[in-house]
Amino acid sequence: MNKDIATPIRTKEIMNKYGFSFKKSLGQNFLIDPNILHNIVSHAELTKEDGAIEIGPGIGALTEHLARAAKKVTAFEIDQRLLPILADTLSPYDNVKILHSDVLKADVHQVIEEEFQDVKNLMVVANLPYYVTTPIILKLLTEGLPIKGMVVMLQKEVADRIAAKPGTKNYGSLSIAIQYYTEASTVMIVPKTVFIPQPNVDSAVIKLVKRDKPPVDVISEDFFFTVTRASFAQRRKTIINNLTSQLPEGKAKKEAIIAALERAEIDPSRRGESLSIPDFARLANELYQVFH
Ligand code: SAM
Repeated sequence: MNKDIATPIRTKEIMNKYGFSFKKSLGQNFLIDPNILHNIVSHAELTKEDGAIEIGPGIGALTEHLARAAKKVTAFEIDQRLLPILADTLSPYDNVKILHSDVLKADVHQVIEEEFQDVKNLMVVANLPYYVTTPIILKLLTEGLPIKGMVVMLQKEVADRIAAKPGTKNYGSLSIAIQYYTEASTVMIVPKTVFIPQPNVDSAVIKLVKRDKPPVDVISEDFFFTVTRASFAQRRKTIINNLTSQLPEGKAKKEAIIAALERAEIDPSRRGESLSIPDFARLANELYQVFH
C-alpha cells in the first residue's frame, strides 16, 4: 500500500515541495491523522462497487482513502493551486478524478451522470470547508441527487444543530431542514489537533442517510420551510408572536393564524423548539390556506 498523505511529516513535505500556503478564506484545514480518515471512510460503508463524491480534496488526504475503498472518486476543488499537487499525490490511484470547480456553482447532476453510471451506491464524503458547510449540505440535499447519503466533517456546533431533537437548545430550522431529507446522526467528535493549521473550533463527523420519502406530507415544501424558519426567528418568542411578525401580513391575519394553530392542535403560547417535524407539517398545512 502507498504511504499515507495524511501524516504530519508527509503533509509538511508536500507543502514544502510546492511552496503551498494555506488560504484561511477557503477553509483550508488539512487532516493529518490516518486513523481519523480511516474511521470517516468506514462510516461511509463503501464497497468496490460504490462511488464517492468528495468536496475539497486539499492535498488528497481523504481522497486516497476513498480511492482505496470505492470503485471511483470524483472530487470538486476550488483552489487551482492544489491541482498540480493532487496530480502528484494521487498518481498511484487510477480511479480518481479531480474537477477544478466551486461545488456551489457546479452542476452536480451532470457530473453524476457523466462519472457514476456504473456504480451501485453513491456517497458524499468530505472534510468540508467550514465557511460554507450549511450551503453545501443543503445544495446537495435539495437538488434531488441520486446519492445514498453523506458522511461529512464540519464544526461541532453545526453538527449539534443538524442532529438536534425537539425540546433541546440546538433544535431549530436547520435541524428540521436536514432531518426532513435524511436521518441524521453524529458519528465522531474530532479534536483540533488532527488538522494543520488547527481550526479555532471543535469538529464532528455527521452521517446523513437520505430518506426514501419525506417523514411527513406537506402541501408545499417551500411553505413548510418558511413556517419553520419563521417559528424560530426569535427563539424566546412564542410561536404566535413569531408567526405574526414573520409571515407576510401576519399581524393582520392574527386571528386566522390562531385558528390554524388550534386546528393543528398546537397551543399558540408554545415555543418553536417544542414542536416536532409532524407538528410543523400539520401547522404548515393548516396555515397554507391562510397564506395562499
Ligand atoms: N480534504 C482535505 C483534508 O481533509 O485534508 C481538505 C479539507 S479542507 C477543510 C477544505 C477544502 O475545500 C480545501 O481544499 C478548499 O480549498 C476546498 N474548498 C473550499 N471551498 C470550496 C468550494 N466552494 N468548492 C470546492 N472546494 C472548496
